[in-house]
Amino acid sequence: MRFQVLTLFPEMVLSGLHTSILGRACEKGLLSVEAVNIRDFTKDRHKKVDDYPYGGGAGMLMQAQPVFDACQAALQKSGQARVVYVTPQGRVFHQELARELAQEKELIFLCGHYEGIDERVLEEVVTDFISIGDYVLTGGELAAMVMIDAISRMVPGVLSNGESGETESFHGNLLEYPQYTRPELWRGKKVPKVLLGGHHRKVDDWRLERSIERTKRFRPDLYEKYDLPGRALSYLKQNRLLHMDMLESIRRGLGEVLCVREDGVLVKDCATGVYMVTARHKDAGERLLSLADTGAGIFVCHQEFVAQSVAARFGKKECAACYQLSYTKKQPFTGDENGCSIRLLGESFTDTVFAHYHDLHTRSEIGKLLKDGALYGAFVEEGDTQVLAGFIGTHAEGGMGMLEVFPCYRRRGIGMALEKHLINRTLARGYTPYGHVFTDNPPSLALQEKMGLKASSALVYWVS
Ligand code: SAM
Repeated sequence: MRFQVLTLFPEMVLSGLHTSILGRACEKGLLSVEAVNIRDFTKDRHKKVDDYPYGGGAGMLMQAQPVFDACQAALQKSGQARVVYVTPQGRVFHQELARELAQEKELIFLCGHYEGIDERVLEEVVTDFISIGDYVLTGGELAAMVMIDAISRMVPGVLSNGESGETESFHGNLLEYPQYTRPELWRGKKVPKVLLGGHHRKVDDWRLERSIERTKRFRPDLYEKYDLPGRALSYLKQNRLLHMDMLESIRRGLGEVLCVREDGVLVKDCATGVYMVTARHKDAGERLLSLADTGAGIFVCHQEFVAQSVAARFGKKECAACYQLSYTKKQPFTGDENGCSIRLLGESFTDTVFAHYHDLHTRSEIGKLLKDGALYGAFVEEGDTQVLAGFIGTHAEGGMGMLEVFPCYRRRGIGMALEKHLINRTLARGYTPYGHVFTDNPPSLALQEKMGLKASSALVYWVS
């Protein structure tokens, strides 16, 4: 990987970066670090590169022309390389950004000095504005060196032990565990016993525990991002029946956990953008909701006060209360299909399904569900043909629903047959079947309970 650093102090950059691990990587040809002296490009006969700022104010500013020409010279060698201006005004550098930048073949770093650089040239050449933290340095060289060091460690071959990048701080949003080397006893302090036993699993467990402990203590902000799905599942399992939709969304890989707090969880369904929120109290709910997009469409709230917050914050008018019902048994249903035959419906049924189910879904959403194999139809014999008598499906977010039996086929047990079939299919995939039933639909609630589904003691609220 090639780095070019545009600077007024080339020797500072070169001596710093041609030392130790990076120095060896340069010798091996894995890295190339070059400094471009901005002063070499000034057209001023006194080699001046700075001047007073228009409008007054403290200090001097680097002028546009030498910076521009130095940058053009670097770009001539590097083609389309990204140009990073290191500045306290940029987004803050972190390990993920280092990883992203390490994918590039070439990078150009621009170091400011004095009070900074004329804005016009920044507008012309810079692709990325990056800071190393919320403090002000006298010049950009140290910042560029910090970034180049962190990026270079991710270039294959630069670190001799390929593993070391994997287990270090920030990997998986944890800080590294404490480490010890010889002697075993130093100033009366012993190396923890578990590290001496040679039991690899115990060592790994101990290290993970220490990593979690340290991250919680020193970097609670980082810990919030650690193992979001795992932590969300443990929170949600405290009330499985109320949270079955969120639990299944995570287990089935349909939703992304956006935040886990001690007092709440926020999940976003990837396909539909529906947010699912649960919170212990109003304030926790508000904090979670502050992470949702302002243009968010639908929220499934697991407490009434969260639904009220959504309505107020996002200007939502519709709120439908539902029972959440789950089939928590493991055994599938046995027996016949009440005189009908049930099979997957294809896209050719889009219009039929849409005609019966246009309130909550668009035609293209129905088409997509059919294409994804989410709907089953019940067919009955009529003369020589089989006709569709009803259908059931799995919503994109994972809940069972869309149960419809056409009027002339009702009271024959077809609805129950469809539901049993879908429950069996869902169980076969290793999932827990669940669904939401509007509180104004007692017959549906009765059917679900008759089939052995359990209702949560509290309601969920669809706010749209
Ligand atoms: N007047 C500028 C401001 O307030 O934003 C600060 C200029 S600073 C004294 C001089 C140069 O140091 C900047 O142009 C930038 O290249 C570099 N620099 C200072 N602090 C930095 C930081 N936290 N991260 C990256 N670069 C920094």
